[in-house]
Amino acid sequence: MGSEVKTTTCYMCACRCGIRVHLRDGEVRYIEGNPEHPLNKGVICAKGASGIMKQVSPARLTRPLRRKAGAERGAGEFEPISWDEAFSILEKRLASIRSTDPKKFALFTGRDQMQALTGLFARQFGTPNYAAHGGFCSVNMAAGMIYTIGGSFWEFGGPDLERAKLFVMLGTAEDHHSNPLKIALSKFKRDGGRFISINPVRTGYSAIADEWVPIRPGTDGALLLALNHEIIAQGLYDREFVARYTNGGQLVIVDPASPRHGLLATDEDADAANPQYPQNQLWWDRHANRPVVSHTPQADPYLFGDFTLPDGTRVRPAFQLLAERVGEHSAEWAAGITGIPAATIRRLAHEMGVTARDEKIELPIAWTDCWGNEHQTVTGNPVAFHAMRGLAAHSNGFQTVRALAILMSLLGTIDRPGGFRHKAPFPRAIPPSAKTPTGPEGVQPNTPLAGLALGWPGSPEDLFVDAEGKPVRIDKGFSWEYPLSVHGLMHNVITNAWRGDPYPLDTLMIFMANMAWNSTMNTVEVRKMLNDRGADGEYKIPFLVVCDAFQSETTAFADLVLPDTTYLERHDVMSILDRPISEFDGPMDSVRVPVLPPKGECKPFQEVLIELASRLELPAFVDGEGRRKYRDYPDFIVRHETEPGSGIGFLAGWRGADGSKALLGEPNPAQWQRYAENNCVFKHETPPSYRYMRNWNRGYMEWAQRVRLRRWGDPILVHLYSEVLQRFRLAAQGKWPGRRPPERLAQRVATHFDPLPFYSAPLEAQATDLEKYPLAAITQRPMAMYHSWDSQNAWLRQIHTHNYLFVNPRTASAQGIADGAWMWVESQWGRVRCMGRYSEAVEPGTVWTWNAIGKSPGAWGLAPDANEFTRGFILNHLISDRLPGETSNSDPVTGQAGWYDVRVRILPA
Ligand code: SF4
Repeated sequence: MGSEVKTTTCYMCACRCGIRVHLRDGEVRYIEGNPEHPLNKGVICAKGASGIMKQVSPARLTRPLRRKAGAERGAGEFEPISWDEAFSILEKRLASIRSTDPKKFALFTGRDQMQALTGLFARQFGTPNYAAHGGFCSVNMAAGMIYTIGGSFWEFGGPDLERAKLFVMLGTAEDHHSNPLKIALSKFKRDGGRFISINPVRTGYSAIADEWVPIRPGTDGALLLALNHEIIAQGLYDREFVARYTNGGQLVIVDPASPRHGLLATDEDADAANPQYPQNQLWWDRHANRPVVSHTPQADPYLFGDFTLPDGTRVRPAFQLLAERVGEHSAEWAAGITGIPAATIRRLAHEMGVTARDEKIELPIAWTDCWGNEHQTVTGNPVAFHAMRGLAAHSNGFQTVRALAILMSLLGTIDRPGGFRHKAPFPRAIPPSAKTPTGPEGVQPNTPLAGLALGWPGSPEDLFVDAEGKPVRIDKGFSWEYPLSVHGLMHNVITNAWRGDPYPLDTLMIFMANMAWNSTMNTVEVRKMLNDRGADGEYKIPFLVVCDAFQSETTAFADLVLPDTTYLERHDVMSILDRPISEFDGPMDSVRVPVLPPKGECKPFQEVLIELASRLELPAFVDGEGRRKYRDYPDFIVRHETEPGSGIGFLAGWRGADGSKALLGEPNPAQWQRYAENNCVFKHETPPSYRYMRNWNRGYMEWAQRVRLRRWGDPILVHLYSEVLQRFRLAAQGKWPGRRPPERLAQRVATHFDPLPFYSAPLEAQATDLEKYPLAAITQRPMAMYHSWDSQNAWLRQIHTHNYLFVNPRTASAQGIADGAWMWVESQWGRVRCMGRYSEAVEPGTVWTWNAIGKSPGAWGLAPDANEFTRGFILNHLISDRLPGETSNSDPVTGQAGWYDVRVRILPA
């Protein structure tokens, strides 16, 4: 066989770097970064280089397994079966569910990169019960940003560090965009940029920050309100940007007695342009001193004031309402909540504001806006932000992220050089047009779901509830409990199914999600639930299927285990229909190709889904006669189109019969080969005039419509004021003409669906005796391991096999805990013994540890005395998915798990 080098895409974390795999005699000898890959340019991290050890891990699952008759769940007693048998079991069971009540089947996945396929499978099956890990991870970041600016961080957009002068990072340690961000940061610093990190802990990227601003967890919303306050009070907002590109100048009806209170005033005689996203809102024109339809040529809106329309309706510009709201939130107020001195908050705001104002960028790029105005240059304000789970994973995170998006907008940094920039297919409409069904009739036997399992509600009418307002989804997503749960609520699934609330499941299929250990908020209880039986002696969740490449804590509970391949053994796509690897200057997508044959009888989960979909005769996977359409997954990827003849498939590159078309074109049988010849990546560069101001850029919009990235070409104004939220609030106040929440939820919806950002303490903090449990406890993902994925990796285990609880020396010594000593960390939900480590890099009111290093004995192929069992711990044992009063420990807007909200105390052990 000899030596050879194959290119593919790394999957030791979710960053998707290009790699070169060096093989000798068919075995991996080493893995290096691919210098020709546009994302990582040859850079590789410790995880990426250690992929070689994944292949030889003793934790690999290599055969389909069935729980032994009579063996208890969790005991891990299995017998090997053939794939034929496994498929027969599944086919029989799933066909029966599909023909009776498809929602009794649920598919939940972890940090997979194939949601376009898993989502299609679920929809075709007809079940609403599908989601990936987002509700547990960072849905607040996605939803808070997308409902405000039409885009978000990481796959969807990011900081333009090439041109920024000031970079502010909040709540991020090690990121999804790891290597590209490290490359960009090192250049940014060399070019003289200033980097401020706002975080309770100084780890990861923050190590090279010029300034670390420690903050108490869960209080970022207060800081951001105060920063917005200062930016407006000091006159440092970009008035022109706010007036033209946000809804700040649009008039809001101010009449508490009216059913239209808080909605935007419109001119009903004007052309709405698009009934889905009407364009007939009003400004009060400064020149004519009268109301005009917004963006009327030559008009310029008042941002402040109080006006009366000719019909007597009182209105105020949205910006006026925002200014009033943030006016209540001074730096002194925020200082008491965040622990950041008021002078520091004022200085930060001033630095952001003057950098944005005085260091403007001007690029000689002509472009035309959506209203037909021609601009000779693209300008930008060089202040860039990046934020992630530290802001998101709190029960107040949605409004916190809204406050961040508003700050970025006041500084005029949205899709402009030096600020935040979108990545295709973003920006999207606010909210995006994809919708779920709106009632139980959307779920029918032997029929695909009448909508998507996950969508973007724009009003109460878009919720997925029955006539009484009860949830249709098992996780209660898109119900009044979590109306904007756009990523679902993975953390609710097992608990709800066990309770039979809103109904019991029959079969739960889990793909690469460790839902019985680190991907749950109440590890101990969830493990009991998986083992619990009803009065009839049957398990309360009757059938559990786990597909994973490794023997995790969750596989032990399975009735059926399906052995997945590793990333080096499969085809895979980072699809434009899902989360592609696009960069600022145009769409990009990429693939994995197998560089090794599957180990043992491993089968990629993609192939499992294609096989099952064909056997179950799901319409998109069979022809008119019910015959199988696709040979296998690679064949599916090449030939599947979103609609017959649409020219849109999972991959955007080398389309058309001869591979000459990009983004849109007929299927190309040689598509995989073309990707393999091109470093497994496809890049489409748009002309410079389409690269900025895309929310309002006519040229970009027309092109995006042509290639079907966008349905409509309407401008996407930044929602400083969220009319979408106000619609839900009106419903809760009994004023909305349509659906209304159940009485018990009305106050909660009215409070949290505030159209303007506000701060409230996380729900868990409100339900905790803070005298007894004064410290915040959080986790971070280590740089050397991606969650629990590499607990079995021999090289990475040399970096860490167990974790410590990091405590500020002042806090630890006050409790008599020595550096390195055993200690207890205790919440109102439980206690864990762990080893403490002094660290100056954590603010005194916070303790933290690495996520998912501690393991359950017997899992991951580790020795019985492995450090992961004897010294490691996971903080999840201290967290609950329920709060006193039986409310969920989740954000009431999005359902985001509030797993960074737990309060603890520490004691010597
Ligand atoms: S950052 Fe992630 S994708 Fe990139 S090399 Fe490291 S593990 Fe692989």
